[in-house]
Amino acid sequence: MLTEKSLLTQETNPSHQNVLIVGGGPAGLATALMLAKRGWTNITVLEGRPTADYYEPDKSFNYLIDGRGQKFTDFLGLTHELSQISVPNTEFYLTRIKPNGSRKTLKLPIVDPSRKTAYWLPRREFILLLYQEIQRNWQNSITVLFNTKCVQIISIPDRDSQKLEIVAHTENDSILRFEPCLLIGCDGLQSIVRNTLKEWDKSGSNRFEMKYFPSPSSGLRYKVLRLQPKFPLDHSGQEHAVSNMAYAIRGAFRNRKRSVSLGLLPLKNPDAFRTANIITRPDNEVWELKNSEAVYNFFEKAFPQLPIRQIVSPEEADQFAKSEGGYFPTPQYCSGLHWLLKHKQAGDSDQCSAGVVLLGDAIHSFPPDIGQGVNSALEDVCILNEALSKSDDDLSQALPLYESLRFPDVKALIPLAQFAYPWQYNQAPLRGRLWNVNFFLRLLLSRILPNIFSPPAFFLIQKHQLSYNQILTMVQRTSQILYIILLSSITICSFLTIRMMN
Ligand SMILES: Cc1cc2nc3c(=O)[nH]c(=O)nc-3n(C[C@H](O)[C@H](O)[C@H](O)COP(=O)(O)OP(=O)(O)OC[C@H]3O[C@@H](n4cnc5c(N)ncnc54)[C@H](O)[C@@H]3O)c2cc1C
Repeated sequence: MLTEKSLLTQETNPSHQNVLIVGGGPAGLATALMLAKRGWTNITVLEGRPTADYYEPDKSFNYLIDGRGQKFTDFLGLTHELSQISVPNTEFYLTRIKPNGSRKTLKLPIVDPSRKTAYWLPRREFILLLYQEIQRNWQNSITVLFNTKCVQIISIPDRDSQKLEIVAHTENDSILRFEPCLLIGCDGLQSIVRNTLKEWDKSGSNRFEMKYFPSPSSGLRYKVLRLQPKFPLDHSGQEHAVSNMAYAIRGAFRNRKRSVSLGLLPLKNPDAFRTANIITRPDNEVWELKNSEAVYNFFEKAFPQLPIRQIVSPEEADQFAKSEGGYFPTPQYCSGLHWLLKHKQAGDSDQCSAGVVLLGDAIHSFPPDIGQGVNSALEDVCILNEALSKSDDDLSQALPLYESLRFPDVKALIPLAQFAYPWQYNQAPLRGRLWNVNFFLRLLLSRILPNIFSPPAFFLIQKHQLSYNQILTMVQRTSQILYIILLSSITICSFLTIRMMN
């Protein structure tokens, strides 16, 4: 039986004090903290998951919080704490383990001292960092409701204006209703907030419709295998994995439909489980494993170098067989980032009675090739903060300003996600090699003639001072110069060949 209660009622001038955020992932919690730091109160976050650090096998990837993401942690004074629970990229060591058991350790990447140190940590630990900051310092302004799902968003006529009503369901089947002045959609790829705006928008501009762009990595399947902390690296059991080391464990199968490898990213906590990423094409045999025995049999053959039964518990083998895994999304964005509900004034001029704004995966999503999912979401939060500052927190000005400041970068981010590093999963080795040639050619030319050629996009993205739009412009300019050189060379060669033949 559903019970019903009204939680928030509209106040006379409540725009700073009546905010509802749908989604308590990185974008949602970061937005709540940003608003609280600006002095906003009465901020409620709805989150469908049961807890901040709830283990989601299909979302147990690691984030690399780079200079872009640190614009936000700097603003909140959280960068030091972030560094304490993470592994810095300056200490990134990778051990490659071949099927015959041979191991080689490399230090990666070549760190550019002009870039800010970036930090590796599991997604759930980053979300927990944000949540603990709320618990410690912002409990008077922010309430996070877990196990609470937004199910409906309604725009209700109210005398001369429109007001928002949001309906949410809790775990124990209560219905909650909210009437916020500002609704923030941080609810990820399948955003109910964006989808509602799509229905409301009758302008014909399709502003809230996602536009899709192909990428060689979208559609790849992804699943995580949880390994014991400090698992043995071979059958002798003499050497064990260390938490702050990354591992690339090559599988023995050569056949494309069976070939798998395990990728483990570094962790600060030595006692935490290690999550090994398995990323393959959708037709791989690993997706057909239906029970724990099939999982053990497959992995024992795939990884003869590892004592699989010691490092994968029976519960984990069972969980792995049951898990659906995830798909890398197609690069996509929408052009509408905000919506204003109007209020008729006495003098017939329209004013904003409430606003809706979108951030994070709700407006841009792409495969994880360039590690910008979380960093771009945190940058969205910083741009919204900038727009609020420039407009004295007046929503009718701040939300359109946020859209105009952020949209060029959202639009540029998607082509960068398409070509910056899409062949890294060995999904098509020949195409991957061709891509490497292009990558190293650009890198070499940019070192020899830095004023003419810019480095590859993957390198430029890590320069957090550059916007995505600036990076795309630089990369496209280099591409144009390369095309001109190529065309000129072909023309000259053809001309010389014809002359020689005559
Ligand atoms: C397989 C895969 C691997 C990835 N790897 C990386 C990586 O290595 N590095 C990286 O930076 N990014 C990675 N990403 C992308 C990254 O996870 C996202 O870009 C980032 O989490 C965006 O944050 P967000 O808060 O906008 O959305 P999400 O993290 O998706 O958070 C949305 C939150 O909203 C909640 N929610 C949704 N709907 C509702 C509702 N109706 N009511 C209440 N709550 C709701 C969800 O439970 C969720 O907690 C990866 C993505 C995928 C799919």
